[in-house]
Amino acid sequence: MGNPHGFQEFGRELPGKKAPAERVKNYNEFVSLYSDEKLNQQSSRCMNCGIPFCHSGCPLGNIIPEFNEAVYQKNWLLAYEILSSTNNFPEFTGRICPAPCESACVLSINKPAVVIEEIEKHIIEIAFEKNLVKPYTPLIKTGKKIAVVGSGPAGLAAAAQLSKAGHMVTVYERDDQPGGLLRYGIPDFKLEKWVIDRRIKLLEESDVTFVCNTEIGKDIAADDLVRNFDAVILATGSTVPRDLPIEGRELNGVHFAMDYLTQQNKRNSNTTINTAELVATGKNVIVIGSGDTGSDCIGTANRQGAASVKQFGLMAQPPAQRTTNMPWPSYPIIMQNSSSHEEGCERIWGISTKAFLGDEQGNLRALKVTDISWELDEMGRRTKFIEVEDSEREMPCELALLAIGFAHPQYNGLLEQLNVVVDQRNNIHAQEGVYRTNVSKVFACGDARRGQSLVVWAISEGRETARKVDQFLMGHSVLETKDALAAFEY
Ligand SMILES: Cc1cc2nc3c(=O)[nH]c(=O)nc-3n(C[C@H](O)[C@H](O)[C@H](O)COP(=O)(O)OP(=O)(O)OC[C@H]3O[C@@H](n4cnc5c(N)ncnc54)[C@H](O)[C@@H]3O)c2cc1C
Ligand code: SF4
Repeated sequence: MGNPHGFQEFGRELPGKKAPAERVKNYNEFVSLYSDEKLNQQSSRCMNCGIPFCHSGCPLGNIIPEFNEAVYQKNWLLAYEILSSTNNFPEFTGRICPAPCESACVLSINKPAVVIEEIEKHIIEIAFEKNLVKPYTPLIKTGKKIAVVGSGPAGLAAAAQLSKAGHMVTVYERDDQPGGLLRYGIPDFKLEKWVIDRRIKLLEESDVTFVCNTEIGKDIAADDLVRNFDAVILATGSTVPRDLPIEGRELNGVHFAMDYLTQQNKRNSNTTINTAELVATGKNVIVIGSGDTGSDCIGTANRQGAASVKQFGLMAQPPAQRTTNMPWPSYPIIMQNSSSHEEGCERIWGISTKAFLGDEQGNLRALKVTDISWELDEMGRRTKFIEVEDSEREMPCELALLAIGFAHPQYNGLLEQLNVVVDQRNNIHAQEGVYRTNVSKVFACGDARRGQSLVVWAISEGRETARKVDQFLMGHSVLETKDALAAFEY
């Protein structure tokens, strides 16, 4: 522990951000880096706890106190080695993770948590700057061939790990470029796409082959893939969006959030858009759904020059702080103010959309809404909602974006051809920790298996699945478990 008084001397401080009025003028990232002095101070706040609860909060088991200490000592090679031993892509999680590690940080019991996510981002960016990040060339090649279907964070993590173990990996992607939701879901202002390109180049230099514009189950039959490879990993994501099938759903101006976000990401990368132009310029926009996707729609609509932006949440407004129902170190469901909210948006909680109302040309003109209240059971859980009397009204709206989540992976095509068994929620059935499907040689990970989740979980599942595939092919695995890595003495 570099500075035993760091947590008393320094408060939590985040790096500077461009002002909202300035940053909405373009789609670039707007968070700056710390000065050397600030980074040193922030890393010194870590107490190197006897039981570092931050580890347990992180799905990857990141070895946080050790890398904080290495940052404090300015030992960048060590910091990078520790971080990259558990996380293949800290440049993604360091930018967009909701940081469950920080919710579990011991310091956060009575003070603001250590800025773990920012420290992670600084380690990897400094490592790239100092040329410490190199392609991986295993000493022994096994001659085994593995196909990974889907190039989101789960597929990429599995590919990185398996190539490290000496296998020949081919990643198939139906989009024109690899990255999954990192590429065409998450907006550039949260994650600029050169960050993905930089990592893909490293993976290619580590002998991973990418085949884009190729849908397995359509362009290549699923059976052919299974026949031609020693193992297959399904990392196809949770791509079927939840719908809101109410009156007026068919009107022009009611769209899924992903259709809207993907278009803008493609526009930013000068990629051809084959669907009808979908922009918020001059429109009253209502985003239905209060999660990450909704928040990304708000940031995008403001950048496109929307006349107004509102966001609806079906639930009551969450509390500002932890309540007795969500004690430390659990991940609390509290009011989150994202950077997109800072840029301008009216948030309305406890509201239900009853109908989309159109004009004579079939264009959306308003939403019919009502306020709601929730009935709770004896455990305090929400059971059903009731409309508040006389609260029904119309809200002008020419663009309504449905950001109410994803139901499950697409079954027709690949999964159907393989006859993959799905669970009760229609996700691929493959037990956590085992990751094998009912089909011989076929494994599954990420959102396609666990349901819509987070980038950090996708990376974690990709790594764990790679180890299981390595064991399946070789009888044992050279890839370490996160527990073994955490027990290593640095
Ligand atoms: C708008 C939005 C914002 C988000 N923001 C955040 C955030 O800020 N932080 C966070 O942690 N998480 C966020 N998430 C969630 C996160 O992006 C996902 O949990 C994560 O990307 C899942 O990774 P995955 O690899 O399992 O699947 P995906 O990223 O969905 O990748 C699956 C890939 O498989 C491809 N594919 C599917 N079927 C086939 C086939 N048959 N043949 C070939 N390719 C195929 C798809 O084209 C896709 O590229 C966000 C999600 C969305 C939608
Ligand atoms: S819980 Fe917080 S203070 Fe303790 S070791 Fe982890 S990051 Fe440091």
